[in-house]
Amino acid sequence: MKNYLTASVSASAVRHNIGVLRGLVAPGVKICLVVKDNCYGHGLDVLYPVLSEKLDGFAVASPVEALELRGKGYDGFILCFLSAYFDDFDIQDELVEKGITQTVMSASALESIQAAAKRTGKTAQVHLKVDTGMGRLGVPANQATKLLEAATAAEGVEPIGIYTHFATAGEEDKTAAFQQLELFNNVLLEAERRPRPFGATSGTLVRHAANSAATIDLPQTHFDMVRPGIAIYGCHPSADVSRIGLKPCMEVSAKLIATKHIRKGGRSGYGLTYEYTRDSRVGIVPVGYGDGYLRSFSNSAVVRIGKAEALVCGRVSMDQITVDLTDIPDARVGDKVEVVSADPAAPNSVENLARLAGTIPYEITCGLGSYIHHVLVD
Ligand SMILES: *Cc1c(COP(=O)(O)O)cnc(C)c1O
Repeated sequence: MKNYLTASVSASAVRHNIGVLRGLVAPGVKICLVVKDNCYGHGLDVLYPVLSEKLDGFAVASPVEALELRGKGYDGFILCFLSAYFDDFDIQDELVEKGITQTVMSASALESIQAAAKRTGKTAQVHLKVDTGMGRLGVPANQATKLLEAATAAEGVEPIGIYTHFATAGEEDKTAAFQQLELFNNVLLEAERRPRPFGATSGTLVRHAANSAATIDLPQTHFDMVRPGIAIYGCHPSADVSRIGLKPCMEVSAKLIATKHIRKGGRSGYGLTYEYTRDSRVGIVPVGYGDGYLRSFSNSAVVRIGKAEALVCGRVSMDQITVDLTDIPDARVGDKVEVVSADPAAPNSVENLARLAGTIPYEITCGLGSYIHHVLVD
């Protein structure tokens, strides 16, 4: 943890974003907040009180994250996208004991969950994950009802949900997403025709499919629940997704730790890739690729000092960058440097930095948020 880098996370921006998402779905449609990977780098510890104000559930990737969330005192619905390793009996038992809803995507996952239910004497609630074309985790669509029947019949296991995940909801061409939706609808129809379609006790399964992109642009995929992640934190999933006025909730800042003069013709950084075309004043900022500030920002990204923009001159190092202060003569050692701006229009907003690096906003926030000190503001 490097405490000279600070992520200021805005509670009001997160509340605004959840409100916008709420406005997109019909009343009665549940919103399951995806908080995997430390809230995509935005800091689960600081955001938990804000996120748990009014919600219908949380989703995480790994069992460890699910248990961490339970440890915060949240006693509602937690869906775990990945399952425990099949030989990890302790974790498996703890998940069942603590009422974490696990994903079943194969017969062996079902077997492992059922064994844990037996060991603990508790009922394990599960959601079935169907692969409708993403080609990742999930039971192939044509085997889904068979697995659902097995889960329904399995003692100690209660299927309470069924879901799929889109590969192209955030792309301009949504053909594949529509094909996935059709396949998912077919699975649901087929499941309904079975004698004990939706679990022995609960009667109905919670059906869900939509990530942020589908929540925003594909209302026909909302079903009973949506699973937005990136939108909560204020980023649009991609440039091809409708702009809905989300507010980025994280600003990352550092302090200027040194300044110096470099003559015209001088250079800076590994490989000496940047040449100063005038006598320049430069500043050193303690952030680098070790903090998730990507090396591809070299010679292209800007940071902001006050309202002024300063170019990153030369390569991004592991722990420092050099910025051009020539046009910001009043910048002083100790001044705040805004490395990532919460203003979506700023050149150093998450979305603009992602564009610059040829990546997605997710990678920027996950990378930067890993080792940073998070504080909640407003
Ligand atoms: C990460 C994830 C989401 C959320 O995706 P966003 O694009 O961040 O909204 C939803 N569902 C599953 C299965 C995921 O893995």
